[in-house]
Amino acid sequence: VRLAYQKIDPVSEALKSNCYEEEKVIKPAFYRISPVNINGIPSNRLMVVIKTSGCEFSPKIDGCSLCGFVENTGNGLTDEDIVEQLDWVLRSNDLTDVEEIDILTLGSFFNDNAINQNTRLALLEKAAERVQVKRVSVESRAEYVTIDKIQQCQTRLNGKILEFGIGLESADDYIRNEIIKKNLLKKDFMDTVRKVKAANGHLVTYLLIKPPHLSERAAIEDAIKSVKFVFQTAMTFDIPARVAFEPVFICKDTNLEQMYLSSNYNLVNLWSIIEVIIRTYQYGNIYVGLCDETLTYKRMPHSFPHCYKNIVQEIEGFNKTQDITSLLQLDCHCRSHYRDQMIRGEI
Ligand SMILES: [Zn+2]
Repeated sequence: VRLAYQKIDPVSEALKSNCYEEEKVIKPAFYRISPVNINGIPSNRLMVVIKTSGCEFSPKIDGCSLCGFVENTGNGLTDEDIVEQLDWVLRSNDLTDVEEIDILTLGSFFNDNAINQNTRLALLEKAAERVQVKRVSVESRAEYVTIDKIQQCQTRLNGKILEFGIGLESADDYIRNEIIKKNLLKKDFMDTVRKVKAANGHLVTYLLIKPPHLSERAAIEDAIKSVKFVFQTAMTFDIPARVAFEPVFICKDTNLEQMYLSSNYNLVNLWSIIEVIIRTYQYGNIYVGLCDETLTYKRMPHSFPHCYKNIVQEIEGFNKTQDITSLLQLDCHCRSHYRDQMIRGEI
């Protein structure tokens, strides 16, 4: 498993920059290269989080309760600055083995107020210039999506797959809208899937593992039910689809951080993630995001330190191969303790 990972530290980067260099370098909020499986073939993806003016949704109605992205928002960025962030990543990394590029924004990729259509298309063209890239993935809230916008994006990709991402988070309406405050109705999700299909796009649905107020057991069952719902919907619309899980992590200055610090939220255990994978992989392509967004170990899905690295490596191996053989064999003495805790309702 090949992993490249870099944190961006604006202060030290600024100190390193050459005073005589006229061209300004603008780096993205975050980027990472990690294993992925593209239509059955093991590969690697580059994920770039581009700074824009941020998620409009957040300040408007008290925001999604878990999201900490808003603190990374860049103000006063020009269209060129937005494209430059992707360009910088593309020219300063060895991307020989990368066949997927995920262009994520701090907000919605289809929100014209954060990023206009020309800039969107310029970003996609940049990604499409790389011959070995097979799939380009973007993400947006449902309300910004039109068939026309997706189709225009599609035409800039030179026949590469455009994958459209929607954060459904959970198929359960109460969990999605009351707990996570996503403000997304199931019918709007379905309607967006219909639009993506009409524009010949592929679908990736983001699901959370263990939103707040759910026990470990309830969270596992919610994730599994949500996967079934996503692939049933994909079948209904006859659209190629996959699921990308985002096990919940703790961002700074969020409601969730308050809950976590006051012991009212327990992070998901990696063994629960293993169970979710083993019970869902047969429904379709599954990816588990373990991106730490520069957080410390304590704020991430966890196991005990002795097996943490190994389990994470196994999950990333699964992301690449979609093969659960070694996940089935995976074990550790801490697993029985985890099971006992779950039975006793402690987690
Ligand atoms: Zn262990």
